[in-house]
This record gives sequence, C-alpha cells and structure tokens, in this order.
Amino acid sequence: MNDKTLGFLRQVYREYYFRAEDRIELPDDVESREFGYIPFSGGMIRHLSFKSKGEALAEILKQSPSSVYCSNARYESPARPIEEKGWLGAELIFDIDATDIPTPCKRGHDLWYCEKCHASGRPPRPEKCTKCGGPSVEFHGTCETCLGAAKEHAKRVAGFLTDDFGVEPGAIRVYFSGNRGYHLHVYDRRFDLLDQQARGEIAEYMRGSSLPPNQTIAATLRRRPAVGPQGAGWTRKVTGYVDERRQGYGGTLQKLVSEAISSQRAMVDSSVTTDIHRVFRLAGTLHGDTGMAKTRVESIDRFDPQDDPVVLSSRPVTVSVGFFPRFRLRHQDFGPFEKPETVELPTFAAVSILTRGLGDVV
Ligand SMILES: [Zn+2]
Ligand SMILES: [Zn+2]
Repeated sequence: MNDKTLGFLRQVYREYYFRAEDRIELPDDVESREFGYIPFSGGMIRHLSFKSKGEALAEILKQSPSSVYCSNARYESPARPIEEKGWLGAELIFDIDATDIPTPCKRGHDLWYCEKCHASGRPPRPEKCTKCGGPSVEFHGTCETCLGAAKEHAKRVAGFLTDDFGVEPGAIRVYFSGNRGYHLHVYDRRFDLLDQQARGEIAEYMRGSSLPPNQTIAATLRRRPAVGPQGAGWTRKVTGYVDERRQGYGGTLQKLVSEAISSQRAMVDSSVTTDIHRVFRLAGTLHGDTGMAKTRVESIDRFDPQDDPVVLSSRPVTVSVGFFPRFRLRHQDFGPFEKPETVELPTFAAVSILTRGLGDVV
C-alpha cells in the first residue's frame, strides 16, 4: 500500500468517526471493559481502559483507527496484564462466519492470487505463484449465498438460545460483523460467570458435535412408538424432522438423521465462544478489511448485509486494481478485476480493495 492510499483510508475512516457518535454502541459499564485498536500503521494495541463513554469516544475519534475492539469481559482493572485484570464475568458470545459454513459457491470466490504478477487461481493455494514464483496469498470472497447461509446459522443460534437455554429473545443482540458473519451477544447474567469449558459445551451442543453417532440415534428412533412425545432440545429437533419426512423417504433412516442434524446445527466458532479474555469489534465501528460497520441487526429477516452496513460515502475515487473477485454492495456489482486496470469506484466499494492491498489510489 502506498502513502497516498494510506492517507486516503485514514481520511475516509476519520470522516466516518466524526459523524458516528450515535452509531457507536459503548457498554454502560465502560470503565470495566478492556479496549484495543489496530492503527493503520499496523500492530494491535490492547489493554486500554476508559473512565467514561465520552473518554472512549474521544479516543476512537482521535485515533480513527483501522479497527476498534472491546472486551465482552468485565474486569476490576482492565488496563493491567491479563493475569492481573481481575476477571468479573463475560457475556456469552457466538460467532458465525461464512468461511466456516460449507457452501458450493466458495469454489467461485475463494482464490489465491500473486502479489507480484496478479495471477490468480482456485484453491488449494500453491506455496509460490505458478506463473512467476512470487508470493501467493489466500483470498476468501463472499457472495449472496454465503451471506444467506451465515444469516440462517445466526437464526439457528438464536433459536437454540430461546428454545433450549430459556434466554428471553430481548436478551439476544445480533450484530453483522462488517465482513462475512454475525456475532450474537447474550445479555443474560446466568451465563456471565461460566468458564471456558462450560461455554465450549454450549457451542458444541449448537454445532451438533456432542450428539451420539447417527446410527445410534436411528436405532433409538426405530424403537420409538409411531405416535408419541418428541422430547426436547436436539431430540425434539431430530424427531420432528424425521417424523415429517419419514413417510415415503427413499434413503435409510440413518441418512435422514444425518440430514436432520446438518439442516439444524449452527456452525458457531467454538474458539470464539470459549475465549473469555477476547476483545470483539465494537458495534458501530468500521471493519478494517471492508470499511463496513459492525451493525446491530434489529430484524434478521429484513437485514441486508450488502446494504445496511455500508456507511461510507459514494464519492468517486480512481484506483488501480490488480486483482479482485466480483462483489456486490448497495445493489451494485463490482468486478471481477482479473488483470491490472484503472477504474473509478464509489468510496464505499474502493475501500474493500484498498484495505487488502489489492489496489492503490491513483
Ligand atoms: Zn506471480
Ligand atoms: Zn459464496
């Protein structure tokens, strides 16, 4: 990335933060949270703390960094090293990322590209560019199908929470991450003191990975009377699915059980849920890779991840692009850019390319 591009990104992020006060969602107990950020010059700065929302906002505005983070944990002394912080509890958080959900379209937009000659190809990424031997980089693209799958899995997480864990719907806040996924924050004090293992068990439960083998489930279902109660939790989910489709189904019962599980599990990232000292992107701040805002989702069905989080201006900017797969924002398609070219793009679209070092401002 050249200096001109860096200067442009800094200015665009700063412009956003100057008018973003109402969008930034700081926790009420701001003084007990750890903050961090990534400046445009790189590196992660953590273990920051602020006495008030005003102080936190002023610092965010002053830095206007590439990314801003806040802990889900509350601490006695958030600015101290982890072992000395005095952990007081943490909200339960689930992370759904399209990258973790198998979708058939990934073949079309997950690519590797060469930083030197801009050659590109399908995965697996060769260690060195097959054309010039230059350094190759992995690129995860996104599309409507992947974003739709992520949304579906986020809805499943909310369903598990309300149906199986007795969480009030109003205690679940859903956020779009600003890139390819969703974060679900649970504001229910019953979970705040859970340790890593207990959080891991909840995540594994949602992923359906702690269930007995399909064969065993099928055997239990075979012994079940034709009409009867469907139980609770996964038992109800699987039994309900099987009962609805069993009549006239062509495959084995074991296959139907497997379908029941894969169509209802939520592919949450367990490592995120179990990490009780993590910092998360702060709602209302910009994603460092896309320039889209981490956005509170009021109605998941109506939320449009290619429009609602797009907050940067549409002012045109001329950029030279080396390589970038097709992407869609604000109902417009951009790219694919497969060979070096100079194009004029709205700022909100150009930022996605510039932040990843795949183009420069001309
Ligand atoms: Zn190359
Ligand atoms: Zn896709």
